[in-house]
Amino acid sequence: MSYPALDPDQTLIVQMSEDSTLELPLKHIMAPPGKHITLREDYDPAFTAGFKGKKEAERKLEENSQKLAEYQDIFYAQDNYALLVIFQAMDAAGKDGAVKHVMSGINPQGCQVFSFKTPSTEELDHDYLWRSMKRLPERGRIGIFNRSYYEEVLVVRVHPEFLNTQKLPPSTRDNIWKKRYDQINGFEKYLVQNGIIVLKFFLNVSKEEQRQRFLKRIDEPEKNWKFSPADVKERAFWDDYQAAYQDCLNQTSTEWAPWFVIPADAKWFTRLAVSEIIIHTLQGLNLRYPEVSEQRRQELLEIRKLLAAEH
Ligand code: ATP
Ligand code: MG
Repeated sequence: MSYPALDPDQTLIVQMSEDSTLELPLKHIMAPPGKHITLREDYDPAFTAGFKGKKEAERKLEENSQKLAEYQDIFYAQDNYALLVIFQAMDAAGKDGAVKHVMSGINPQGCQVFSFKTPSTEELDHDYLWRSMKRLPERGRIGIFNRSYYEEVLVVRVHPEFLNTQKLPPSTRDNIWKKRYDQINGFEKYLVQNGIIVLKFFLNVSKEEQRQRFLKRIDEPEKNWKFSPADVKERAFWDDYQAAYQDCLNQTSTEWAPWFVIPADAKWFTRLAVSEIIIHTLQGLNLRYPEVSEQRRQELLEIRKLLAAEH
């Protein structure tokens, strides 16, 4: 059992137009399970696989959206698998835009998006996976987590005082991050073994690009609403977040649910890479519309006769 059917030694060939292709070596965008990665050295936030055609990429993304809608229709009809897509990132890395652009065109009935914020008092009365379990996608559906239970080893690790609100018995606090990695790995294995495929995208934006995007959010009045002073406060913890992400990628990129480290300085590339990976994952499932039995087919033909005779 290994989902998705992508491995870091593979190169995806993306047909961008009749006469141009984009070669995407997955080693630049996957955290290989079992190998130690260093975020800063191994992954370039500005990587675009040597491709510069933003317009072409946007057109390709539209084509992919249509393809995704078709696959999703079969996925829904087949009603066996569910797909959980997780987005994690620093602020302004483009999670919202990726969700919006990659998923546009999909039947809203087949797709559910949840954004995880600071836990409520009710949520804090439960174990930390509880709120995520309640929101897992049903079979046949794509569920998107905009932030996720990974916040529990990211923001909570950077601000360990948040643990004090979690009402944990003292004994559970020893070695807590290692325990949480193990719990998350076990949880995801359980999901995958039950037909819920887990795709995890870390949108890897650079500190300078984040600064530029924050400046834009202040300079452009229609972007002001997106700007929160809290985001700048978190930016001050940049290095701590990078360390937490790096450890998290090393500890939770598994054979059954590997992490994709998506370069996020060029939005068009982020969106294209995410959509390609989702499409390849769905393609790997050999999706088919459910086959109708001979008996059912005969029933349908009988009903058809009746309907046709009404005229
Ligand atoms: P945007 O800013 O684009 O609207 P966002 O995902 O940053 O999207 P916010 O409402 O700004 O949404 O922030 C949500 C906040 O909730 C983040 O700072 C995140 O770290 C925090 N958060 C999420 N899960 C947890 C958790 N389990 N414990 C503590 N904080 C959490
Ligand atoms: Mg925010």
